[in-house]
Amino acid sequence: MTALTNKVAIVTGASSGIGRAAALLFAAEGARLVITARRQGELDALAAEIKAAGGEAMAIAGDIREEALAQRLVETATERFGGLDIAFNNAGTVGDLGPVAEMSLATWHQLIETNLTSAFLGAKYQAPALEARGGGSLIFTASFVGYTAGLAGMSAYAASKAGQIGLVKALAAELGGKRIRVNALLPGGTDTPASITNDPASGPEVTAFVEGMHALKRMAQPEEIARAALFLASDASSFVTGTAFLADGGVSIQRG
Ligand code: NAP
Repeated sequence: MTALTNKVAIVTGASSGIGRAAALLFAAEGARLVITARRQGELDALAAEIKAAGGEAMAIAGDIREEALAQRLVETATERFGGLDIAFNNAGTVGDLGPVAEMSLATWHQLIETNLTSAFLGAKYQAPALEARGGGSLIFTASFVGYTAGLAGMSAYAASKAGQIGLVKALAAELGGKRIRVNALLPGGTDTPASITNDPASGPEVTAFVEGMHALKRMAQPEEIARAALFLASDASSFVTGTAFLADGGVSIQRG
């Protein structure tokens, strides 16, 4: 028996970074997957990699802001694999950085829709499917930004991630009696394409600064955050719900 034997999971943001690592880990732990992101090629390659390793994954490309996609992901899990036990709602973006006074309303809406409205849409369709299964686990990738840290230039991102944590608390209260656990996962700086340290404009001093923010004096690899997601997805966390679960290398307890 592996941690997710006989489980069916949706993983969003699976084309890259944390979501890709989580999809590979969940599949290796026995889950059958519905994976999504906008880039079809990356998703198809991931599905092929999972199949080659003996797993099962259905790739559905789409924009996480679309309600029809949220519905289709759950329908696919139900029709193809018989139900849904886990959703790792992980897709997100940092978007354009800058001071509030210079931010357009369109930029604000884009961040909130991608990171927060998508979380609502995911839960709206996933919760009934988990209830039909007799319980399950919902996980949302938030951030330490907007929770334990306020970083200049990241207001829309911080608001979207703090909003996710509020949503998680309300959902955990609504769904706990139905044996559905709901948690936010808060990574620290993680070495993915989204990280500022992988921006071609950033030099080694940016990487050194970001690493130094963490008590562990390094960034996470996506596989380390995937293991925290596996904990929240599996029965190992059977009494954990409504939390803002930090997997942040100690960035939140650093003061200078
Ligand atoms: P990443 O490698 O850039 O992955 C982001 C994923 O989200 C991609 O698969 C991307 O796929 C998908 N995505 C973005 N916008 C989308 C949209 N409109 N529709 C559908 N899919 C969309 O970044 P990551 O670091 O793994 O980020 C994963 C999550 O971790 C995000 O929620 C991020 O905010 C959070 N996080 C990251 C860090 C960090 O330091 N890296 C720290 C804290 C929290 P497509 O481009 O193919 O659509």
